[in-house]
Amino acid sequence: MSAAIGEVRVKRTVTMDDMASMSRCRPSIDADELNTRFESCEPLEVIEWATTEFGDRVCVTTSFADLLLIDLATSVNPGIEVVFVDTGHHFPETLEIMREALHRYSLNLTVVRPPEDSVDFGTCTYDECCQVRKVEPFNRYLIGSTDAWMSGLRRDDSSERSTTPVVQIDRNGLVKLNPLTLWSTDQLDGYMARRGILVNPLTAEGYSSIGCMPCTAPTDSAGSDKRAGRWMGSSKTECGIHLPADRG
Ligand code: SF4
Repeated sequence: MSAAIGEVRVKRTVTMDDMASMSRCRPSIDADELNTRFESCEPLEVIEWATTEFGDRVCVTTSFADLLLIDLATSVNPGIEVVFVDTGHHFPETLEIMREALHRYSLNLTVVRPPEDSVDFGTCTYDECCQVRKVEPFNRYLIGSTDAWMSGLRRDDSSERSTTPVVQIDRNGLVKLNPLTLWSTDQLDGYMARRGILVNPLTAEGYSSIGCMPCTAPTDSAGSDKRAGRWMGSSKTECGIHLPADRG
């Protein structure tokens, strides 16, 4: 099920002690003030602010569903770090678009993986698998490497994400930026078509949200929750990376 994706560059690992000391010296921001300011801003303005504010301590996270956020962020800072969590269960199409992105943008890509002896899909619950193979490696890496991270979350993604702000403080005390959240699906699709932004080919096969192969299904009804094909048949709606700080 797992596919080889080449060299993995992980800058370093962190201990719990590191995390405690790092969290004490994070830059502070006023998220409310920034959200008021950014409510009428374009994604590029948010990205420009972030790269000015955090320098090389801000990264882009991606699931390689498309290359929109990567395209925007690298237009501001071509060397910005891009972080991808390789759970070992991605679609071949996702890994292919990752390779294409590496080539097209000369990406400064960091691939984060779970420890080899981690519990795995099929032998544990969805929640356990996501926690161990995705959420923990992701958090551990970001806490040790960044002050801020950008995601492609949008209010249009699902009812659960319908109030996603541009700026958040995540559950680890890092600044999380969602530069695309104000864009509707029509705006996004129009921009990507005009700019020729690469989209994961699974999208054309009905996968309106793309996660791991064993627990992602196509959804064919227009207007349905874009994430309805994730963990289909279960009550799970999020892997855990994007859960707000007040939800377990
Ligand atoms: S999405 Fe599925 S395979 Fe991927 S980490 Fe979560 S439960 Fe495991």
